[in-house]
Amino acid sequence: MTTVGNTATAMSVPLLDLKAQYPAYQAELWPLLQELCAGQGFILGPQVTALESSLAAYSQAAFGVGVSSGTDALLLAMMALDIGAGDAVLTSTYTFFATGGTIARLGALPIFLDIDHDTFNLSPAAVERFLLEQCRSVNGEWVHTVSGARVKAIMPVHLYGQAAEMASLLAIAQRYHLKIIEDAAQALGSEYHGQRVGGLGDVGCFSFFPTKNLGAFGDAGLCTANDAELTERLRVLRVHGGKPKYFHAEIGGNFRIDELQAAVLNVKFKHLDAWTAGRQKNAQHYRLLFADAGLTDRVELPHAVPGHRHIYNQFVIRVSERDALRAFLTEQGVGSEIYYPVPLHLQQCFAYLGGQRGDCPVAERAADTSVALPIYAELSESQLAYVVDTIRRFYQTR
Ligand SMILES: *Cc1c(COP(=O)(O)O)cnc(C)c1O
Repeated sequence: MTTVGNTATAMSVPLLDLKAQYPAYQAELWPLLQELCAGQGFILGPQVTALESSLAAYSQAAFGVGVSSGTDALLLAMMALDIGAGDAVLTSTYTFFATGGTIARLGALPIFLDIDHDTFNLSPAAVERFLLEQCRSVNGEWVHTVSGARVKAIMPVHLYGQAAEMASLLAIAQRYHLKIIEDAAQALGSEYHGQRVGGLGDVGCFSFFPTKNLGAFGDAGLCTANDAELTERLRVLRVHGGKPKYFHAEIGGNFRIDELQAAVLNVKFKHLDAWTAGRQKNAQHYRLLFADAGLTDRVELPHAVPGHRHIYNQFVIRVSERDALRAFLTEQGVGSEIYYPVPLHLQQCFAYLGGQRGDCPVAERAADTSVALPIYAELSESQLAYVVDTIRRFYQTR
């Protein structure tokens, strides 16, 4: 990058540029889409089956069930685990809305808990504290004292592509007889001490929303599981609970993934490891650039926990004067985003739960200070340098 005085050459660096990865798979995809259109078989065909088995294997889980979105993966997982009215699910307050929204949509009580500072992920200590201080044991079940809801599950989120502290959460789940539903929407291929996410708990939930590391041409998702009976339940509930077709012992929904989306994902999947490696390389490069620019006092970089394979769905830094920095980045042509400006316990729609500012101080602070920078694989070194230099110029005058 050329620098003239204090002014770097203007450049445009979008937060994400999906068009940049399209040439990598276009030639392979088109004949396949034409074949599918000619065959007119759009529902639960061979593309879906192939996707389910390759992504289950990739996630080190025994089974995969393709679904209509990450949100529906979460809904379906909880339905298959019989979570509904009268139940409570413990989850992170600092996540995409769907994590909490799906719990509430099933009539269950979402309990939003704080995160660990370094990982942005659900704090096992907060989970344990909640169980010890706000629940009591009734006939082997843990009941939330105030609401009377039975605590059924913990739903950790592997936020930004880094695994939650699973060993502690799994130990708590075992001690309190709780299920674990992994919200792995941002974390396909992420590892916790050598084990891939998605197969660590009872059900893993993935999203292929276009901005995820493996993105469809629209909405799609996947549930993973290791238990054959639970997987069968996921499959049946995916088609309205019909088994055999048109005979309903229970009520499911239409949670199917499209054959067309599965075809897109099967083709793109072959590039996933290369794209992830590109994101990891960019993250490393950012670390060098921020250090070289002398910015490590002003900018808190993502903490990559040893033993966790971070897949960098997002590269999220924490800064003071975040909103002013963002405005400057926008003005200078650098895309950024705030994931997430309002923790779930402070969302208006969850006011009925009585959440207050101060309940989850770590998450509240993250919401006020964090900003995601461009990290996608196709970024050039000069684009990365421009992003860091833009941040340097912002703080230079302060
Ligand atoms: C994207 C996302 C979801 C929802 O996935 P969709 O496919 O958009 O429905 C759920 N949880 C988290 C953490 C996500 O990032």
